[in-house]
Amino acid sequence: MPIVVQKYGGTSVGDVDRMKRVADRVARSHRGGNQTVVVVSAMGKTTDDLVSMAARISDHPPERELDILLTSGERISMSLLAIALAERGVPAKSFTGSQAGIITDAVHGKARIVDITPGRVQGALEEGNVVIVAGFQGVSQDTKDITTLGRGGSDTTAVALAAALGADVCEIYTDVDGVFTADPRIVSNARKLDFVSYEEMLEMSAQGAGVLQVRSVEFGRNHGVRIHVRSSFSYTDGTWVGPQEDKMEDAIISGVAHDTSEAKVTVQGVPDTPGVAARLFGALGETNVNIDMIVQNVSLDGRTDISFTLPRGDQAKALAMLEPLVTEIGAEGIHVDDDIAKVSLVGAGMKTHPGVAARMFGALSAAGVNIEMISTSTIRVSVVVSKTQVEQAVLAVHDAFNLGEDQVLEEGN
Ligand code: ASP
Ligand code: MG
Repeated sequence: MPIVVQKYGGTSVGDVDRMKRVADRVARSHRGGNQTVVVVSAMGKTTDDLVSMAARISDHPPERELDILLTSGERISMSLLAIALAERGVPAKSFTGSQAGIITDAVHGKARIVDITPGRVQGALEEGNVVIVAGFQGVSQDTKDITTLGRGGSDTTAVALAAALGADVCEIYTDVDGVFTADPRIVSNARKLDFVSYEEMLEMSAQGAGVLQVRSVEFGRNHGVRIHVRSSFSYTDGTWVGPQEDKMEDAIISGVAHDTSEAKVTVQGVPDTPGVAARLFGALGETNVNIDMIVQNVSLDGRTDISFTLPRGDQAKALAMLEPLVTEIGAEGIHVDDDIAKVSLVGAGMKTHPGVAARMFGALSAAGVNIEMISTSTIRVSVVVSKTQVEQAVLAVHDAFNLGEDQVLEEGN
């Protein structure tokens, strides 16, 4: 029997009526002869509400307790969906992440899956049940405490389970039709992509395309899981994410992603001596802060500025660690700018087509957008711009590469 893993996001299970519709859809998969595993997110804005309730009680809620609190959102969804399936005559059993064998490290708030022991899931499937698993959570191998996988982590639960079970496909149900060439809320002619390679999707997710959590794509790539991102509100095909060789059309560029959730930190007047960067970033690494772009300027009189971006949510933690260190290493100060945005152009075809960065910078300059930082990978060019200009920047770049619905047929890219 084919094994299918379906993941439903918060909007798809946003209220009781939607939950019933998801149950209909799951029942259809079950009756169609699939062994069906369903991973659910918390309903609507439940996770945000839980976070803000804790924040109203404390500025520093213990991470262990915060994780237990946040996992409750997914438990509500999983049990309600099981009830809705039972009501439809479909046998269903729900499991928490821990019960489903999602084993993680002990880093609360962004734990990594280290192993999956899906014995109970397989047992329940063999008995003929639909299995429902609470997304976004696991249990630490070392501490035995409940952990969460980071915001958007249900995607990773789903893809990781699909890998562990050898599922034929992992369907990610969301409230949009798939992955687009840019955010359709900004770019009205953004186009739905039929296929995106793992590498491109990794870059797009890491650069702010909210549709899949980065780690879910890593899992997909490492284990060869085909991911189908699609809408839970229609039956139309969405976007497939898979290996590059599955790609039919050979567009150079896949899309433009943007991210307004980061801040830029500049450590000023850092002594330009060996080992200083290692100390700075070593210390940041120990606090589990994910540093993104790093730029070091040419040094003047033996001193240099080092700038980097990091998630705004980690800013306080990073500064608390950096401030004493700045004095220790003899730097002059720290400056934080949280009015920034990152705009990234992603496409596997860049590897073989020179001039992409120049065309992107040209489009930004024509739109009057100033570039503050630049970073690249073999298949991505990212710039930091002022947050007030993010929409202009996204529109200009999208247009310069003819990525729009109406443009692609006329000119290609
Ligand atoms: N409920 C969690 C969140 O809002 C996990 C998820 O939806 O994927 O981040
Ligand atoms: Mg999500």
